[in-house]
Amino acid sequence: MNTTLRLAAVTALYRQGGYGREFYIVHRSRQLPFLGGFHALPGGSVDIADHELPVERARSRSAFVAAGIRELFEEAGVLLALGAEHLSQAQLDDGRKAVLERSQTFATFLNHHTLTLDGEGLVPIGVWVTPPYSRTMFEAQYFAVALPEGQTPSIWPGELDHGEWLTAPAALARHAMGELFLAYPVLKTLEAFAQAGAFSEICTQLAAREPGPPLIGAELLTGVQILPLLSPTLPPATRTNCYILGGPELVVVDPAPPEPAEQANLLQFVRTLEQQGRYVREIWLSHHHPDHIGAAATLSRELRVGIAAHPATAEVLAGKLTVTRLLCDGDVTELPMLMGPPARWRALHTPGHARGHLCFYEERLHTLLSGDTVVTNGTVVVPPHEGGMRAYLASLRRLLQLELGFMLPSHGPPVALARERIQRYLDHRAERELAIVRALSQPKTIETLAMEIYAGLAPGAMKLAQINIAAHLDKLIEEAKVEQKGSCFQNVI
Ligand SMILES: [Zn+2]
Repeated sequence: MNTTLRLAAVTALYRQGGYGREFYIVHRSRQLPFLGGFHALPGGSVDIADHELPVERARSRSAFVAAGIRELFEEAGVLLALGAEHLSQAQLDDGRKAVLERSQTFATFLNHHTLTLDGEGLVPIGVWVTPPYSRTMFEAQYFAVALPEGQTPSIWPGELDHGEWLTAPAALARHAMGELFLAYPVLKTLEAFAQAGAFSEICTQLAAREPGPPLIGAELLTGVQILPLLSPTLPPATRTNCYILGGPELVVVDPAPPEPAEQANLLQFVRTLEQQGRYVREIWLSHHHPDHIGAAATLSRELRVGIAAHPATAEVLAGKLTVTRLLCDGDVTELPMLMGPPARWRALHTPGHARGHLCFYEERLHTLLSGDTVVTNGTVVVPPHEGGMRAYLASLRRLLQLELGFMLPSHGPPVALARERIQRYLDHRAERELAIVRALSQPKTIETLAMEIYAGLAPGAMKLAQINIAAHLDKLIEEAKVEQKGSCFQNVI
């Protein structure tokens, strides 16, 4: 898989408020494909044109500085430029509007008002590389920036919904309560700023750390660590997210990798947790597929812990992997946390992708481990013999009944907008079903039907599409909307 690395710049804009240093936290629009619905800091990709912008006094690579200043101007209306003090608010607003509408480039705007970007205020506070969840990865340079005197940030609806000034401890407390969702690097940056110590020293420490997060193991929410590990999964995904839940006592969900090298990475990560006095209590499986259980036997042996899964999963794995405890729908496991009340993880039987599929739902913060029921990289295959399309759709509808916070899938990055994502899956299935019924005004085989509905798919993906079509056809036959004649199907309308 070819991965594209895109450069980005992010600015932690701060000011001195009544309760200490406050940061400008923006809420990313729910429509954005990357980190939609998350709370973040102003920022975005480095444009080619950013390399040519006039920058003075930059303390870091000037394209990052230029991109950081441009994004801060576009997203929050704050301009760090020599000469900006001579511009009226109306001139700034007109320029921002023109740049956002692309009727004028940022370079032209600067040129027109003889402005030079001022990099002095942008203090580098570290580089973050997104984990390899998907094909596009971002390498983001973070900066701390003091709000220039006389300027006030403002959000114009578009990529961002709103912004607010929050102290680092206040933002972290709201994240811990599940009230706002901080993207991981923002979380770590604010955690650093919430510590005691001189601001400039914290900036230096942040700038000196290795670009992260570390390849494996990042605590995204309190008591939820995510490890995207290499696994033999369906393309475009190449990894399965293994989750480690809990505080002093831990549960490893879906130890995925079958490859010894990647298994060693997982084991090493667990050992570092053990060095902190924490220990693994059990292994949980969302379902039986090879890209979810590759390291289960190794880990169970090395850590001397049992494996829990749904009875249907235990049944398919019998003879290959021993499930030592059955997890049934509604079973709740309490995991004490390092601080605060224990987490309560409820197993939800969600068949469709696999007969014994379990999602895990944390009742207090409403975090959902969605397994392979809803993913954010790739598509979900619904093999007819695993419960079928009716069971799958019922599972999705059931998830929608929950109060939902963060959703953490087995493949792809976490999502803040669980409800929308699940609804989109249901809408998509309904559209597919309608397309199938329409296409069957004449008798057709599954192969012809797949070619027609999924025109242009690669052969490998076409096979998977056929499986999902077969699942839809089973459902439509049960509902007497379609009938089968030999190898052909036709609608009954
Ligand atoms: Zn699977």
